[in-house]
Amino acid sequence: MVYRFAVKPYRLPLRSPLRTAHGVWSVREGLIIRLEAETGAVSYGEVAPLPQFGTETLAESLERCLGFSDKTDDAAMDAVPTRFGCVRFALAMARSPLPTVDKAKRLAVTALLPAGKAALEVLAGKLEQGFLSFKWKVGVNRPEEELGVLDDLLGRLPDYCRLRLDANGAWDRRAAEKWLARCAERPIEFIEQPAATDDVDTLLGLAEDYPVMLALDESVVGLAAAREWQERGWRGVFVIKPALAGPLDELAAWAKTSKADIVLSSAIETALGREAILRFALAQDLTKRALGFGVGEMFGDRLWDGPIIGPLLDAGYCDAVEGDPLWNALN
Ligand code: MG
Repeated sequence: MVYRFAVKPYRLPLRSPLRTAHGVWSVREGLIIRLEAETGAVSYGEVAPLPQFGTETLAESLERCLGFSDKTDDAAMDAVPTRFGCVRFALAMARSPLPTVDKAKRLAVTALLPAGKAALEVLAGKLEQGFLSFKWKVGVNRPEEELGVLDDLLGRLPDYCRLRLDANGAWDRRAAEKWLARCAERPIEFIEQPAATDDVDTLLGLAEDYPVMLALDESVVGLAAAREWQERGWRGVFVIKPALAGPLDELAAWAKTSKADIVLSSAIETALGREAILRFALAQDLTKRALGFGVGEMFGDRLWDGPIIGPLLDAGYCDAVEGDPLWNALN
């Protein structure tokens, strides 16, 4: 099929800067692509790179997209190399018909808590909203301080709730051991990326030595990396940010054949990319774990955030998002 191809960049300040072990993140930049088929049908895709996670940069993805002519065909789009996971996600999203979702289908969502003590206050509000699963960013402040907050958080967590920790690769082996020892036998669902992506021995060793479930995130940005970790014998969780991992149907095929224990997680994409991912999550049975999409109103603008995501997601979110207004809001 031949399409008219167009692309526009977006630049959205985050309502509250996000503090992680990667530093402070205050602006989300990405691209929206628009395809118009010969039939006149218009569809959109989102490129939301996270170069700090090892994806292509915004400049690289823009250069790729500007390389498509006004009339672009499937062969040209299929020729994008695998390392452009974000561009490939967007192209596939725009070219795939949206799956239909059973209206009765519901999936649990994990609420993101901010780094540091601020987590305690946010936890109270999220519990009130009915969230059962929470994720807290660690490796941001001094460990003694964070371990104190961990005790407070767990003290306030009802028995039926679970907490995920995300170290974003910040710990060395010693620091990780201290945390893992502290987390044993506590209601920790898993600890995400407890050591750096390239520290394979530490990650495998920690998984072997401690009873706490571990998860890889930055280590498995693309499916090729996830497959490598499976070959190394990784038995923990794989946190997959679909917006970074290439076409959604490739992700589904890998998850189904490998039976990997996965969590689908947000890359802080806009409502447009999020709609495609959540529709896919609702239509496929890929995971029993709560979706990592309880990120709140990141942009403080309903057009870009989409509807507020509560403790249970259903197709209502997806039905409320439309591409044209987002595209038209961009220059
Ligand atoms: Mg993570």
